[in-house]
Amino acid sequence: MSKSISFADIHAFEECRSQYRHRKQGTQKDVSHKEALGNIVHEVLAVSTDARPALLAGKLANLPASDRAGASSTIVSMVEAADDMEEGNHPDREKHLRFLDLETSWQLVAKPDEIEIVSDERGNPILEIVDVKTSSHLRRKHREQIFFFGLVAFLSKPEFTGSIKLVVRILSSKTDFIFWFSRARADEQLEKVRQVIREIEAARARQDFPTQVGWACPGCNFHKQCQAYLETQGTEQQNNVVQLHASEPASDLVACA
Ligand code: SF4
Repeated sequence: MSKSISFADIHAFEECRSQYRHRKQGTQKDVSHKEALGNIVHEVLAVSTDARPALLAGKLANLPASDRAGASSTIVSMVEAADDMEEGNHPDREKHLRFLDLETSWQLVAKPDEIEIVSDERGNPILEIVDVKTSSHLRRKHREQIFFFGLVAFLSKPEFTGSIKLVVRILSSKTDFIFWFSRARADEQLEKVRQVIREIEAARARQDFPTQVGWACPGCNFHKQCQAYLETQGTEQQNNVVQLHASEPASDLVACA
């Protein structure tokens, strides 16, 4: 396994270590229809306006024919919402942020949807980081993720001394939730990440990645092949019919970064 860590890795490890191992080993994901649409929205937004129609057509072709019209409508409305909310700006799309932490020798990686230097009313530069969400409302996970992005931006851009603005953009309601990264809390945040890294290293050394069946399972990308979860559903791994329960992660349209 690589020595890199993203917010999605941290979230998976804390939710269920088996889920984390699946992620890092590249196990084939089961992606829900909603999650697939969210992924397409992000992919379409990441390319130029001219390139979007062809990309969207190609993505829609991979969906069942009966789903295409509805999917196209949903995706186009989300993309239009994102364009409207950009207010004419053209930020860098999906820029990777990386920081090599010398204390752990692990790389912190972040992939926000937009990064841009903007100015406040006095002309002072602000580093604005935007993460676009296709889910219906702000979740705690979104907040934690944008602060992780802020941390990686702060660490990887030591030359930038201005404020770091963090935006979670909820497309369905066209709402921006705005937070500010606190430089004073950077050490504390970094130490928390290092602590997770140490726990991951200990788990690797012991090859100890137990399943943790719970509320998170229905939203887990590996639940259809997780024997521990399937057993709780009264079914065998070979049985493809899994009863999904409504839960917070299952209703989240956005794929892990
Ligand atoms: S289905 Fe549940 S127990 Fe299984 S890997 Fe996913 S989160 Fe863990």
